[in-house]
Amino acid sequence: MGTRIVALGDLSGATADTIIDATGRIVAPGFIDSHTHDDRALLADPDLPFKVSQGVTTVVTGNCGISLAPLATEKAMPAPLNLLEGPGDERFGTFAAYVAALRAKPPAVNVVPMVGHTTLRVMTMPDLDVPATPDQIAAMQGLLREALQAGAVGMSTGPYYPPAASSTTQELIDVARPLAEHGALYVTHMRDEADACLQSLEETFTIGREAAIPVLISHHKLMRAANHGKSVQTLARIREQMRCQCISLDCYPYTASSTMLHLDEARLQGRITIASSGARPELQGKDLQDIADAWGVSLGEASRRLQPASAVYYSMAEADVQRILAFEPTMIGSDGVPTGDRPHPRLWGTFPRVLGHYSRDIGLFPLETAVWKMSGLTAEVFGLPDRGRVAVGLHADITVFDAGTVRDVADYDDPARPADGIVAVIVNGTLAYRDGQHRHTRTGRVLTRQANPAILSPGTA
Ligand SMILES: [Zn+2]
Repeated sequence: MGTRIVALGDLSGATADTIIDATGRIVAPGFIDSHTHDDRALLADPDLPFKVSQGVTTVVTGNCGISLAPLATEKAMPAPLNLLEGPGDERFGTFAAYVAALRAKPPAVNVVPMVGHTTLRVMTMPDLDVPATPDQIAAMQGLLREALQAGAVGMSTGPYYPPAASSTTQELIDVARPLAEHGALYVTHMRDEADACLQSLEETFTIGREAAIPVLISHHKLMRAANHGKSVQTLARIREQMRCQCISLDCYPYTASSTMLHLDEARLQGRITIASSGARPELQGKDLQDIADAWGVSLGEASRRLQPASAVYYSMAEADVQRILAFEPTMIGSDGVPTGDRPHPRLWGTFPRVLGHYSRDIGLFPLETAVWKMSGLTAEVFGLPDRGRVAVGLHADITVFDAGTVRDVADYDDPARPADGIVAVIVNGTLAYRDGQHRHTRTGRVLTRQANPAILSPGTA
C-alpha cells in the first residue's frame, strides 16, 4: 500500500479498498504535536490512543530537558526525569539505541525525537547542583553529537527544574554549540515563567544568538496572579526580536499547567491537584492542600511523602492563554504527560479544544488558522517539508473531522476521554482510527534529520 498522497480532487473514476465519506467534513493534514513527553509511551503504549483519538499523527518528544536517551546508567532518575520511567523499564545507553527500538516496534504515530540537556547532565555530572565544568560540557557535546547523528532534530533544556537549575547561561550556550553544525533546534522550558519571565526570554535569545541556532520557547505562559497580563509585553518582545533571529513558540489551550510535584514550597502556590503518585496512588485527583491538612503537615512535607509524583497547577489567566494562542507564530503543543490515572486533560483534549472551543465556539481565530497552527506551521519549524499539508506527493498523514461537532471531552475530573468529532485518522497512508475505533495499526515512523533543511524518514525518500 502506498504511503503518500497520489491524487486530490474529483476521484469519481478511481477505485479503492477503503472509502471514507468526508462529505461536509474537513480533510486536514494530520496534526503534529510540537510538545510531548511521549518518549516512554511510544514503546510502552504504542497505540497512543490519547494522541490518535485527537487526530495527532506526529509527536515531538524529548521536551523540557528530559529525554529517555541516552541513559547508560542504572542510578535512580531525579524528578522530573522519572516521569518518563516506570519500574523495570529498559534504558537506552545511546540515542541511536532508542531510535532503533522505535523502528523495531513502530508506534501508531510518527516520532520527531529530541535529546534533553537534563538527561545529558545526569549522564555526565555526579553532582547536579553545580554548573558543568569544561570537561563535562565537552562530554555533553559529545553525547549531543551522537544524538544528532542518530536523528535527533534538536536539544531541549529545562533550567526551570532542579537537575538543570544550576546550569549557567554560558553552560547552555556551550553545550548547544553542536546544534549549529546540524541546523538543529534549541527548545526550552525557560528558567522562569513567572516573575522573571521577561529575563528568561532574554536569556533564551542570548543563547540562540551566541550559539547561532534557532530557538523554540516551549509552552509559553505567565504563572501566578502577579504576572497575569504580562503576555502583552512578552509577545511584543518576542515579535520584536523575531526580526533579528530565528524564534518560534508553542502553547497549550488551558489555564492550568502540569508537571512534577515540586518539593520547593515557593512553587507550591495556588490550587494544586495530584495527577500521579507512586507512593500514594489512592490520592490521585486530590488537592495537595487537603492532603497536607489531613496529615497535619506542611505542603512541602506532603509533597515529599507523595513522591514520585506529578501534579496539576491552576496558575494562569485565560486572557494570557488566549493572547498567546492567537499570536500568529504560536504552534499548538499538548505538553501531555501520559502518567497516572488523573493526567491533565490536555493529554486527550488539546487539539479538539483548539478547533472546537477556541476557534468555533469563541471565535479566537478562523478554522484554517487553527489547523495551520497544528500542522503546516509546525512542519515548517521542525523542518518536515513532506508533512503538514495536504498535497500530492506528500506523506499521507490525514485527519478528517467534523467542524460542527469537534470538541474536547476530557476535563480535569475525567481526563482520559477521547474527543468528539474526529472522523478518521490516517498515518502514512494507513487508516489508524475511524469513528471512535482505534484500529491498532502502527505505521508511525521515526522522522530523523538526514539532511538540512529537509528531514526525511528512512526508506521513504
Ligand atoms: Zn516543560
